[in-house]
Amino acid sequence: MEDRTKHTYRTHLYDFIKDVLVVCPNCEGRALVNTNGYTIFQPEAVNVRVVCGHCGYNKILERLSTRSKYLVIGAPVDPYFHLPLWLKMELGDHLLWAYNLEHLDFLEQHVGAKLRERNGFKHQVKSIGAKLPRWMTAAKRREEVLRAIEKMKKANNH
Ligand SMILES: [Zn+2]
Repeated sequence: MEDRTKHTYRTHLYDFIKDVLVVCPNCEGRALVNTNGYTIFQPEAVNVRVVCGHCGYNKILERLSTRSKYLVIGAPVDPYFHLPLWLKMELGDHLLWAYNLEHLDFLEQHVGAKLRERNGFKHQVKSIGAKLPRWMTAAKRREEVLRAIEKMKKANNH
């Protein structure tokens, strides 16, 4: 049951890995991993690069198909270069993280829907709460998670 839940969430994560915000390995500012349309369903990654607008760091990914390169999905690093994600925040024993602002919105919508459901409102968003990590939707955590998401959004809006 737990495995199935995780798997479903991981499947959904693939939607968010087109542009991933990471910590620049050179200046520790916010950098962007851009896949230029590459999806994980293609056998080889081409034109996947990390670009930093602050210091100009710019690196293109070598082919993923070599043995030493592998995709990491579902961890607080970008899937290609394995750089630490920019959007992350510790909540007790857990780490809240998102690939990009769109992903953060997704989490906010669905944790929020869970909260409204609990408060007796019929929610419009199709219930996919089960696709989120369980700790995130635990009743005692929801408001804390939503506050953290709000904070991260504020800090990263242009
Ligand atoms: Zn940089």
